[in-house]
Amino acid sequence: MTTPKAVQPLPEQRTHAERVALLDFDFAQLSQWLAQFQTPQFRARQIWEWIYRRYAEDFAAMSDLPRTLREQLAATATLTPLAPVAQIVSSDRDTVKVLFQLADGQTIEAVLMLYDQRRTLCISSQAGCAMGCAFCATAQGGLARNLTSGEIVAQVLYFARHLADPTLPLPCSVERPTQVTNLVLMGMGEPLHNYANVWAALHRLTAPDAFGLGARHITLSTVGLVPQIERMADEKLQVGLAVSLHAPNDLLRTQLVPVNKGYPVTTLLEAVRRYVAKTRRRVTFEYALMAGINDSPELAQEMAARLHDILCHVNLIPLNPVADSPFQPSSDAATAHFAQILQNAGIPTTIRLRRGIEINAGCGQLRRAAAHQPLSLEIEARH
Ligand code: SAH
Repeated sequence: MTTPKAVQPLPEQRTHAERVALLDFDFAQLSQWLAQFQTPQFRARQIWEWIYRRYAEDFAAMSDLPRTLREQLAATATLTPLAPVAQIVSSDRDTVKVLFQLADGQTIEAVLMLYDQRRTLCISSQAGCAMGCAFCATAQGGLARNLTSGEIVAQVLYFARHLADPTLPLPCSVERPTQVTNLVLMGMGEPLHNYANVWAALHRLTAPDAFGLGARHITLSTVGLVPQIERMADEKLQVGLAVSLHAPNDLLRTQLVPVNKGYPVTTLLEAVRRYVAKTRRRVTFEYALMAGINDSPELAQEMAARLHDILCHVNLIPLNPVADSPFQPSSDAATAHFAQILQNAGIPTTIRLRRGIEINAGCGQLRRAAAHQPLSLEIEARH
């Protein structure tokens, strides 16, 4: 007669909120947390590599871990805090935007752009945003909350997983890429308003034993929070800085970008000068051109005069029209003229390409659309 095998009691199943989010941990925290399972130290390294080098989505895939440990992990921890709920693909099939739902029901967006040699991913740093910029779709709902470092990292791992696995669907017109090569924090939220979590995420995304993306391939875009720009100048990671200027003087900028009241243009540009002096890195100024608002030749002259002594580059962004917003994009002629004035003054200037996806689903707009429709929508953006 065979004796029945001792059945190991499974740890009590916990809800998502009670489980520990492993993506929020750095390596030391993961090792420390694992100690409760009386498992050898090298298990932490294995799990770390499953997460950051192999982009594992669930514990069952971690085939070199003992089954009991995998079950214990699955019962007490979570691996991905994101559920993709909607996706929009540009008509030229080279831009993919995904709307993710977080465990508490909040939604955020990330966009993968595949149209040149670079594979640029644009991610969110907050659910909503508190900055209140007049022309921005995300601003309209205000700030819901900061994203955790794990929720920031997870957006990158999601796309890295898709690019690395040829069996996962990826709509794209170009030769199928296999890696994310560039990262921009230009999605929803103000990254410097969520400083600690954003930098914790950046450390893991750049660490050679974690995701390992070169810091120089990352750009952080800020509305212009001066104390945090000062702080960023002292960071060791060589992450690029972009500043959303949108107007060269306080009268206009305060109307478009309300935080200008606290950090007026002169103060902001002084902080940028100090940043450049300390880091020796060229800063990008973003400028969304709005018809009849901030696109006159006089404003271009004023802007050129204010920026002439700063190591910088200007990126002119054709406005993405936002529903129920009075702001309209500038004409191509006004955009070209504005760029010409800056260039003639010796300021390197580029005009951001306008993608089909931006016309129909600019930042924050997929989130708004999904709020009014059942989830799981797949939209093909039209030109
Ligand atoms: N909070 C950060 C990141 C925001 S999104 C920041 O302010 O920089 C990245 C860029 O998109 C910013 O320059 C932002 O001002 C700009 N933006 C917001 N709404 C836009 C719109 N409707 N059209 C074009 N650019 C927009």
